[in-house]
Amino acid sequence: MKAKTQKLKAKSFSIITLFPDLVAPYASSSILGRAQQKKLITVKTVNPRDFTKDKHNTADDRPYGGGPGMVLKAEPILKAVDSLGKAKGKRGIFIMSPRGKQFDDAEARKLAKSFDEIVLICGRYEGIDARVKKILKSKDISVGPYVLTGGELPALSILDAVARHIPGVLGDANSLEHTRTAAEDTYTRPEVFTYKKKKYTVPPILLSGHHAAVESWRGKTGIKKK
Ligand code: SAH
Repeated sequence: MKAKTQKLKAKSFSIITLFPDLVAPYASSSILGRAQQKKLITVKTVNPRDFTKDKHNTADDRPYGGGPGMVLKAEPILKAVDSLGKAKGKRGIFIMSPRGKQFDDAEARKLAKSFDEIVLICGRYEGIDARVKKILKSKDISVGPYVLTGGELPALSILDAVARHIPGVLGDANSLEHTRTAAEDTYTRPEVFTYKKKKYTVPPILLSGHHAAVESWRGKTGIKKK
């Protein structure tokens, strides 16, 4: 008999971005796209520019104290967040920032577990008016010790890494590494691959059919969870 499928509430992701066109195609392709179709997750983008009042839809301005570049204004971002309405469950709000706490797989698992709604705010230019963080009592998250031109790639990375921890998102539950944060070396057909006249083979153990031996080999090559 088919197992009774539990009706799970979709985890909602809202990405606040001046460039929704960068976000939407990634979120609606491949595994994330399927997760949306299966209603395991919802992904929406909100553009702060839609909440500006002047005729040029200005979402940024010069920094106080001088210096180069522009800063995203507080009000359009706060209005974009307000437009999400009252949280229907536990809502976590995060600002993408190279100065935030560095995101990792443990954090991804924690976010998947702790929140029903995840709001990811993308900065651009010199960043976001610091009062946004204060008002929203949000946390800064960094995806790594380097500086990107915007928060969209970080937000997509977080969306992707968190979604993998939501039951049902990965077709085969086993492909979510419970003990490894990165998969071992993997191979697919052909068994012998010839490239520029040189032959490249698959480790024989993977062809042996000895499940336990394969698992132990994989344990050796995978990166262990910290
Ligand atoms: N001088 C700014 C840099 C802004 S980079 C600062 O120190 O914050 C422009 C935007 O890109 C940031 O507001 C942030 O949203 C995003 N960003 C850049 N690098 C990032 C990283 N490593 N992790 C997360 N967000 C990042």
